[in-house]
Amino acid sequence: MSASTAAAALAALTDDAPAWLPPVDHWETARDGDRWIVSGQLDTDGDALSEAGAYRLLGPIVEQSGQKLDDDGRLIRARFTHFDVPFDVWFLRPVLRWVVPERCATCPTKLGAPDVKFVRLGSGDQDAPVICVPCRDRMQAHWVALHRSPLVAARQEVRELLLAETGEARPAWRQSFTEINGDEHPNAFSPVCTDDDHEPGDPTVYSCCPDPVVEVDSHVLGAYLVELLHADAHVDAEGGESA
Ligand SMILES: [Zn+2]
Ligand SMILES: [Zn+2]
Repeated sequence: MSASTAAAALAALTDDAPAWLPPVDHWETARDGDRWIVSGQLDTDGDALSEAGAYRLLGPIVEQSGQKLDDDGRLIRARFTHFDVPFDVWFLRPVLRWVVPERCATCPTKLGAPDVKFVRLGSGDQDAPVICVPCRDRMQAHWVALHRSPLVAARQEVRELLLAETGEARPAWRQSFTEINGDEHPNAFSPVCTDDDHEPGDPTVYSCCPDPVVEVDSHVLGAYLVELLHADAHVDAEGGESA
């Protein structure tokens, strides 16, 4: 079936409209897979048509075609076939012609333009925030990254470990020496010891010091890891920066 077949069937239908055909606001011909379908929006008489009125107007199509009335809670659609071309007449429930806010709730995108796709968060709530589809996609990607990232899981586990070992989930770190052998550079890093008898400037690890003490071959790498730990300590589980 071609587009012209569909157009011819539509012309035949409208030229000699059968009694069971309700008033239609406008018709559209569209490709549906490898076939063409013709859809008409039921004339709502300037939005005055109620849902019950729509059912009454679509009823004769159903009686005539024997095809079930589709109702997905949003659209009511009556289908029939004319000259072997699938047709339908649809009605959008007035209660679901939601008021669309001027702008996306999370970015400056204006929602009025016909090419701007948007979604309502939550279901069945007219007051739920409306966001543009790119924002929705960003939120979903962020959520997935947050909850499935190995970094997030590892960070959470180490915070629990540190809380148990040091009494703080985000202790301060320092480079340290595990032995006094005249080495110029620290051979380890570890949480800052808060023991009263441990002199704050003393980088040596004593029995008073909390675990874990991490020995590293390179003090340069040790310095970097200490900075990484400090930088990462303020990342929240929500993915933002905490104070
Ligand atoms: Zn947006
Ligand atoms: Zn100590």
